[in-house]
Amino acid sequence: MAPKLCSICQTERAMLRRPKTLQRLCRACFYTVFETEVHQTIQRHQLFKRGDRVAIGASGGKGKQHADSTVLAYVLKLLNERYDYGLELFLLSIDEGITGYRDDSLETVKRNRDQYALPLKIVSYEELYGWTMDRIVATIGQKNNCTFCGVFRRQALDRGAARLGVNHIVTGHNADDVAETVLMNILRGDIARLQRCTEIVTPGDMEGALPRSKPFKYTYEKEIVMYAYFKKLDYFSTECIYSPNAYRGYARAFLKDLEAVRPSAILDIIHAGEALLVRGDVKMPVQGQCERCGYVASNKLCKACLLLEGLNRGLPK
Ligand code: SF4
Repeated sequence: MAPKLCSICQTERAMLRRPKTLQRLCRACFYTVFETEVHQTIQRHQLFKRGDRVAIGASGGKGKQHADSTVLAYVLKLLNERYDYGLELFLLSIDEGITGYRDDSLETVKRNRDQYALPLKIVSYEELYGWTMDRIVATIGQKNNCTFCGVFRRQALDRGAARLGVNHIVTGHNADDVAETVLMNILRGDIARLQRCTEIVTPGDMEGALPRSKPFKYTYEKEIVMYAYFKKLDYFSTECIYSPNAYRGYARAFLKDLEAVRPSAILDIIHAGEALLVRGDVKMPVQGQCERCGYVASNKLCKACLLLEGLNRGLPK
């Protein structure tokens, strides 16, 4: 039987089936469609302007594989050169203080710094908050640890970005992450978050949060891993040892089941999330400033200061 040819170039042998569309492609055409789609997303949503200083943040997906930030760094550098975006790129990593997980992944990030010749800044929970995730888990147990970690990471990225003097942060959140979060917010009835989680850019504010965007918002996780694998990129693939977040795990498994039956399910869920506009009578939180640290807050204290207060008083729950 003759080998199947790539459905785009019709000359090379098809080497893979594209997860998003099930098209059979050769490697070169896969790279081209992958990179071009990210470029189109960046252009369509005007994510950057010339002269922007952009930090590529560790995506810190909840307990998943970490090809995202490596591929994002690689592809952004490539597109910046290919299309002359005029960006200055930096790597920004957060050290949550998780022995056996983050210390290993930081070694990968350091290699990425050398491979891509990008400056790297690492900020740690220990230095910012006086707590590592190891100590937090030892204190509160392994139940709400990802809540602490997520709140701390958000602020840590902004503080690290301020030290780098950048004006924009990009994260490696991909289409699967966004669809999963849409599902989670629907399941929890969290309508205010539902709208925010589908935004490709969250605008910055006066209180220190920088604009943040997700160039991989429409990129499938499987394609990111495939791209990293075929390009032989140096990425990290261990799961966080504190990852079991049961509810998110169910949402993730459900999404994977849907994707297996219908690959477009991931994009369909994102589009559904985008289309669900908040009704006028749903109360949206008003953003102010934390009395203690000055960060964005919808109450007197920002979430990080509130969580820290509980931890320091020994009343985390
Ligand atoms: Fe991710 Fe949770 Fe691990 Fe933090 S503790 S790195 S949020 S899985």
